[in-house]
Amino acid sequence: MSYVTKSPWVIHYDGSSCNGCDIEVLACLTPMYDVERFGIINTGNPKHADVFLVTGSVNEQNKEVVKQIYSQMPEPKVVVAIGICANNGGIFKECYNILGGVDTVIPVDVYVPGCAARPEAIIDGVVKGLGVLQEKRNAMDGNTAAPAPAEKEEA
Ligand code: SF4
Repeated sequence: MSYVTKSPWVIHYDGSSCNGCDIEVLACLTPMYDVERFGIINTGNPKHADVFLVTGSVNEQNKEVVKQIYSQMPEPKVVVAIGICANNGGIFKECYNILGGVDTVIPVDVYVPGCAARPEAIIDGVVKGLGVLQEKRNAMDGNTAAPAPAEKEEA
């Protein structure tokens, strides 16, 4: 955690989840899991956000919203796909309007498994994302190469 040099600002978007993973994201903010101990701030403004948390899959209706939020975030930024729906479409992937996981429209840096993803896994994913964020920051400063793309485990 020595790489956390500023408060990471997080924005959450629910693609087309069943709300199971959204509840677990909210649980991370409760005193029981207390993600704020890492200085994490939840924001509704993409222009303030470093970390984009996405739950649910991407569909024809929300794909432009996902792309719009991502494009409004300043560099460097990381994307954390939370739950199997955000990873690859999950149980909805055969539905007529589902495109798949978040990486069908924007690059994903961390994949958090689970249905629903557990708060411990979400926090672990966010902390991994902060490491990637620092690698990207270093690369922008010209100190290192850009980090390699995240590997996705197939369900
Ligand atoms: S991964 Fe499971 S809990 Fe999460 S949104 Fe999809 S169906 Fe719901």
